[in-house]
Amino acid sequence: MIKELNRIIFDSSCYACNRTLSIQERHICYYCLAQIEETGFHHFPQNNELYFRFAGKFPLEGASSLYFYDKAGRFQKIIQALKYKESPQIGSYLGMNYAESLLESSFLDGIREIVPVPLHWTKRARRGYNQAEQIAKGISKISGIPYSIRSLIRKRRTQTQAKKKGDARWRNVSGAFVVKRDLPDSVLLVDDVVTTGSTLEACAKALINASPNIKIKIASLGMARRS
Ligand SMILES: [Zn+2]
Repeated sequence: MIKELNRIIFDSSCYACNRTLSIQERHICYYCLAQIEETGFHHFPQNNELYFRFAGKFPLEGASSLYFYDKAGRFQKIIQALKYKESPQIGSYLGMNYAESLLESSFLDGIREIVPVPLHWTKRARRGYNQAEQIAKGISKISGIPYSIRSLIRKRRTQTQAKKKGDARWRNVSGAFVVKRDLPDSVLLVDDVVTTGSTLEACAKALINASPNIKIKIASLGMARRS
């Protein structure tokens, strides 16, 4: 009851700037949305900073991020709300916006299934949802491509990546994921924010391990710039 009341109160103001939303706005005011820098990567899926972050590590068909993620920016506030403030609706809302952008290009052509980066089931139970799954759900709703949370599973609990650096991040997530079902020949791997890319790399390698000829594209909502 209190949770529900909180949601209604919080959801009537912008998650990034706290301004009261107009009747047309949802979750984030139009001003804040316009201030967050879009990457446009989906228009050149094999020639962008995110793609090059994975180049040579595993075969990748294309990579896209809707926004650049800057620490202390408006988008960071939105991501924090999505991850820590019981606000799954932001994820599906931004996922829907994301799909509309992606559909302006050929990025989603040929993709048969959307696979969100999984949380370990204990973490998902504690948070009540998986933010990557919410984004996948939004993309699915607009694009019509089905999403599956049963294909890829996080079998091992991992520590949070936020405080880890480089190799420690990779050691933390390497081998943490396993494929549980037959996969179609082309999938879209979805996450919230990419920093080093270790988690997505571990997921992609699990998919390739299970299905060596699989075609993978990556779509994250945000990408941290190299500092
Ligand atoms: Zn705002």
